[in-house]
Amino acid sequence: MPLMSDDDFTVHTDDCEKQEGGWMPISDLPDEVSDIEDLECECWSAFDSLAAVQNG
Ligand SMILES: [Zn+2]
Repeated sequence: MPLMSDDDFTVHTDDCEKQEGGWMPISDLPDEVSDIEDLECECWSAFDSLAAVQNG
């Protein structure tokens, strides 16, 4: 499940190295995320595409 930072509203994987307390699990990616490139953190590099993210 993706996590959203409450500091800057970036979205991360649940095993992101930068994870801090207070990050909020979100069931779906934000609407403004339309491409894997919109997910800027390197924790997403394990995924090839947004479809791979959404399919778990
Ligand atoms: Zn991250």
